[in-house]
Amino acid sequence: MSEKPYAKFAEKLVTLRKKANLTQSALADKIGISQASIAQYETGNRLPETPVLLDLSRLFEIDLNELVGNDKVLKTIKICPGCDYQFHKDHAKYCIQCGSKLLDECPECNNPLDSAIQLFCAYCGHKLREKRIDELNDDDLPF
Ligand SMILES: [Zn+2]
Ligand SMILES: [Zn+2]
Repeated sequence: MSEKPYAKFAEKLVTLRKKANLTQSALADKIGISQASIAQYETGNRLPETPVLLDLSRLFEIDLNELVGNDKVLKTIKICPGCDYQFHKDHAKYCIQCGSKLLDECPECNNPLDSAIQLFCAYCGHKLREKRIDELNDDDLPF
């Protein structure tokens, strides 16, 4: 199988970039990443990090889900605002450790969370939780 994992995204990116009359390096400059990264994304082997996807969706004025196509590659990251517990199943709504309602986006600016251990929102700086997780005990693993 030589199917590229993110072929749909890659195809979309090339189409949007050409429609905007941008070269790979012009696009890279606009969103502050390297031309090599854009080239890699366009091979369909790599998907950008969430902040880059957001920049692309804003730049091309396209919905994030439409941008990544039907690949359904965006992971939902959930964090517990009440404790350090960081292993939350995709469908979980509440923390199994402390019962707090889980966050899957910033309550201030509604941007998706891009790391399960972040303390502050990467977009607006809103404080998401009290403590940073530095170490975890085996007891904390639900699996
Ligand atoms: Zn919790
Ligand atoms: Zn925010």
